[in-house]
Amino acid sequence: MRYDFHAHTHYSDGILSPAQLVTRAHGKGVELLAISDHDSISGIAEAKDIVCSEELSLTVIEAIELSAQSDFGEIHIVGLNIDSDNLDLIALTKQQQQKRWSRVEEMELKFKKLNVEGVLVDLRANCKQVVTRSHVARSLIKLGYVKDNNQAFKKYMGKKGRVKVSTDWVTMEQAVSIIQGAGGLAILAHPTRYPMSNRRLSYLIEEFQIAGGDAIELSYPSISPDKMGWLEVQRSKNNLLASGGSDFHYPDLKWSDLGRFPRIRDDIPHVLNSIKEKIQADAAR
Ligand code: AMP
Ligand code: MN
Ligand code: MN
Ligand code: MN
Repeated sequence: MRYDFHAHTHYSDGILSPAQLVTRAHGKGVELLAISDHDSISGIAEAKDIVCSEELSLTVIEAIELSAQSDFGEIHIVGLNIDSDNLDLIALTKQQQQKRWSRVEEMELKFKKLNVEGVLVDLRANCKQVVTRSHVARSLIKLGYVKDNNQAFKKYMGKKGRVKVSTDWVTMEQAVSIIQGAGGLAILAHPTRYPMSNRRLSYLIEEFQIAGGDAIELSYPSISPDKMGWLEVQRSKNNLLASGGSDFHYPDLKWSDLGRFPRIRDDIPHVLNSIKEKIQADAAR
């Protein structure tokens, strides 16, 4: 069964609307698609509507990607198969969205000192809901301060960037508990993309398991077989499930298109099994 458990719409830093995302995924043969925007659940209803009205052979899985604070720095946790009507989860999205706007206001003060002007005005005019560093990068490109996304992160928003602002996101433990309280599975997103050594990453995965986490993403675009093998050892050691997704943002990145990421071996315990069970149970009701 073709699935994709990590994708973004224009409610966060994706480019496509929920309807466009679903249509594209369907065209690529994806049968199970998680809408997992950064700190937002706003794309889910629209995505479900289009599946219904067009009678597509695709099931939308309600999801979210929460920014969270761990002892090892900022991490992303995908909440898969959540109930998007859950009040605690909705309250958390509002809180995180507010923190994101405060973060760009703080960045604006730093930009001012560097004579970089117009970023906040551009963000306020063009950001649909959740403001991310990807939006800041797009503004910087548009205003002519950097040539591309990479330069924007390297020069301004990355780990050593000049406008780097740290944010007190929800803690890893709280994020896991709110996701599970909303009926979802808590999945550590793209573990090898965090700027840390393998040793620290192995501790992070252990802490994630101790915090009650359910799974880690084992497969995402451009992960090497070596790294996937290393992650599988950590997954197995900590008795977690595996998940996979494209982390789709835009159509022009061919290597991260919907449904495209390395295959996870059939013998590895996978969140797909519990998602399938849930769909069958819903269908039987
Ligand atoms: P935020 O959640 O606001 O911190 O923004 C994070 C998003 O920025 C990620 O989901 C990526 O889409 C993008 N991003 C993060 N780091 C980089 C980077 N080094 N280069 C390009 N995009 C990045
Ligand atoms: Mn993103
Ligand atoms: Mn992420
Ligand atoms: Mn993502």
